[in-house]
Amino acid sequence: MNQHYQERSGSELTVGDEIKMNAEVKEAEVTVSVQHRQVHKFGGSSLADPVCYRRVAAIVEQQGNGSELIVVSAAGKTTNRLIQLVELAEAGDEAAGEALNALRAYQQGLIDGLLEGELHQSLTTQLNGDLGSLGQILEGQFDRFERNGLLAFGEVWSARLLAALLTSRGEPAIWLDARSFLRAEDGALVKVDEALSSELLKARLAEHSGRVVVTGFIAADMEGRSLLLGRNGSDYSASLLALLADGDSTTIWSDVAGVYSADPRRVKEARLLERLSLAEANELARLGSSVLHSRTLQPVADSRQRLTLRCSYNPDEGCTHILRRAPRSNGARIVSSVDQIALIELKVLPQGDFEQAVKTIEAHLARYRLSPLTLQRQPDRRVLRLAYTLEVAVGAYDLLRDFQLQGGFTGLIQKEGYSLVALVGSGVTDNAEQCHRFYQLLADQPQEFVQVAKDGLSLVAVLRQVVLEPLMIALHSALFSRPARVGLVLFGKGNIGSQWLNLYGREKARLESELNVALTLYGVFNSQGGLLDEEGLDPIKVQKHFEPSPLIWPELLTQLEQHGFDSLIALDLTASETVSRYYPDFAQLGCHIIAANKFAGAAESEFYQRIKQSCRDHQVQWRYNATVGAGLPIQSSIQMLRQSGDRIQGVSGIFSGTLSWLFQQYDGSRPFSELVDDAWQQGLTEPDPREDLSGQDVRRKLLILAREAGFELDSADIELENLVPAALRKLSVEEFMDRLGELDGPLQTAFEGARRVGKVLRFVARFEQGGKARVGLETLEPHHPFANLLPCDNVFAIESDSYRTNPLVIQGPGAGREVTAGAIQYDLWQICAEL
Ligand code: ADP
Ligand code: ASP
Ligand code: MG
Repeated sequence: MNQHYQERSGSELTVGDEIKMNAEVKEAEVTVSVQHRQVHKFGGSSLADPVCYRRVAAIVEQQGNGSELIVVSAAGKTTNRLIQLVELAEAGDEAAGEALNALRAYQQGLIDGLLEGELHQSLTTQLNGDLGSLGQILEGQFDRFERNGLLAFGEVWSARLLAALLTSRGEPAIWLDARSFLRAEDGALVKVDEALSSELLKARLAEHSGRVVVTGFIAADMEGRSLLLGRNGSDYSASLLALLADGDSTTIWSDVAGVYSADPRRVKEARLLERLSLAEANELARLGSSVLHSRTLQPVADSRQRLTLRCSYNPDEGCTHILRRAPRSNGARIVSSVDQIALIELKVLPQGDFEQAVKTIEAHLARYRLSPLTLQRQPDRRVLRLAYTLEVAVGAYDLLRDFQLQGGFTGLIQKEGYSLVALVGSGVTDNAEQCHRFYQLLADQPQEFVQVAKDGLSLVAVLRQVVLEPLMIALHSALFSRPARVGLVLFGKGNIGSQWLNLYGREKARLESELNVALTLYGVFNSQGGLLDEEGLDPIKVQKHFEPSPLIWPELLTQLEQHGFDSLIALDLTASETVSRYYPDFAQLGCHIIAANKFAGAAESEFYQRIKQSCRDHQVQWRYNATVGAGLPIQSSIQMLRQSGDRIQGVSGIFSGTLSWLFQQYDGSRPFSELVDDAWQQGLTEPDPREDLSGQDVRRKLLILAREAGFELDSADIELENLVPAALRKLSVEEFMDRLGELDGPLQTAFEGARRVGKVLRFVARFEQGGKARVGLETLEPHHPFANLLPCDNVFAIESDSYRTNPLVIQGPGAGREVTAGAIQYDLWQICAEL
């Protein structure tokens, strides 16, 4: 096998080099430096059938930058099938023939389902060649390296196939056998020579800039003989590759969106963890979870790469970011298990010091990267028990057998038939409540021992083998049904802010008990600055006694990033454009946003889309029900129609309470300016009435609704009729109020014009699909729904495919402290309900 590999090593780097692909790549002169390489890893579950392969190709095309390294595992269960085949052949079982045929049929099925023409022909020929050599090797005697070489075929086939598929889609890619650069020293757990491998890899990449598919799982020793990195080892290959090629990022794509609070296939209620510290991820991997190979995190720690886990079946399902900062959790975040483990038991000789002997044994095992999952000391019996996955136990046993004399122990035995259950999370061992529940639930189980990790990262129990599923479900619910801790950061404590604080104070307990959340008012800011307190601020007291520290945005964002809550929500109840500019940063921090501020919703398209994208990328919500119609259910109605399969055709109405009042009153008996003055005196207008009269605010609302209805509009697409004559726009408020009479001329003319034809004058906002969007005066029939409102009411008419001749009309008070605070509280409720 080894020879077989060496014979082929010079020529197998390209997918059918006879098909000129190399030339294509060279011609393309892709000169992206190795400095900016991304690594994407697709496991067997992501490559199980032709549909999966196409999904992977689409992900590569969308997410890659053309120079990425794509690490692949064997497709579907190919490695299992290969192992089974080898075992059958070793046992001389005739079923080996059938197993080989099944393997052929599966691989050929993938090629048939994905390729045509020359590429199809070429890959079929190569597959047949491989299967021929494989069959021949199986017939004779083969050593361990040759056996490794047989298992390596799985990765070779998927790398070759994916590169061919990408090429056939016009995305030239070559493939690389990791044995051509990944040099390692043999051992139960191989030791990679990183310096040499990096040099070799960079040389290969210099020859082949552009997209490269690399086999995971396999390496070679100095003589070129095949070595394996262990089951699930392609995760390690991926992060290792990023280290060796100075890659920026590694994304591990599998059938799940990332690390969950338990294996989601076992525990339905498991929640996706959006962020996990390196230390926690490493502990989970070390303890044998299949979601990450045990060695994956070491290259991450040794390099600057960012590691993310995502789902290839549904890339938008969310993800887990592995963060470098120290973990801030103070308890378990994951319950993990390994169905079958082995215990290796040994007895320290009577003449030696027991603790000293244990230290020596541990050091020896560590030297060979064979530290146990966990261990139990029994000093009274002088017994040490070491837990290993079945895969590693063999190597550990051999190592210990050869070390008996030096290590001062005897009576080495290996027993199988155990399971491992662990709680993982920084500080779990200090979390009395979780520890208590863990012990309580394990009390009825056939427990061998429980071990507390020294670094506080895990609590591990070894049981005699049991059916783990019910136990995992029970543990998960006992540990994680606690309420989600939600931190709220309020911006703006003026009119609306203080009203919402009062409402929040009243509603907090009900929301917490109905939605199983624990809310904390973490921060409050206004234009002078603000306060942050993880212990929580009192919503009533903070209104009276407020001694803010200056608000320095970069510092605040760093503090928010370090928060210790499960979720964070920023409430922007300001009218500040500056605050709105930070929405993408909030989203990036994983912070949900609730806004009464209209700036972002009505911002230029580029910025608006950036916020939306950032929210999608980081799985956070941006809700802004309070921006239009205050508490009226406008946005939710539009969403409901769209979700029901309807299409919005247009929205129109009177969106300003002030303008609604003014035109309702304006019957020709008094000049318009007098009414404005009245409204101003009564506080029905903004302090500067021009903010209402200019129609700007209405235009923002119309833009927000149009976007919500699915139309890509910009502010400039909406025609605006400004009721303030140009000469009055730049004056101070006092000067403007003095010259208010200048409003009257044009309005009087418009009013008379309407009255002559038996109509009334209203300030209307309107957009229609494919038609125009406009905010300004309209003449309406006196019985029109917009013509007969109660003072200050808003009205919204939604036209859709289903509500065409008879639009859906929503009418009621569209402004006011109470209803606006209510809309904000509703958004808070909605976000909490989805946590
Ligand atoms: P791949 O074939 O892509 O390498 P694996 O099957 O090796 O994928 O790993 C993903 C699997 O890990 C998931 O399907 C899931 O069943 C399992 N798993 C175990 N524990 C967890 C966990 N805590 N979070 C997510 N997945 C987990
Ligand atoms: N194909 C190998 C396995 O099945 C490696 C991997 O999937 O990561 O274990
Ligand atoms: Mg895997």
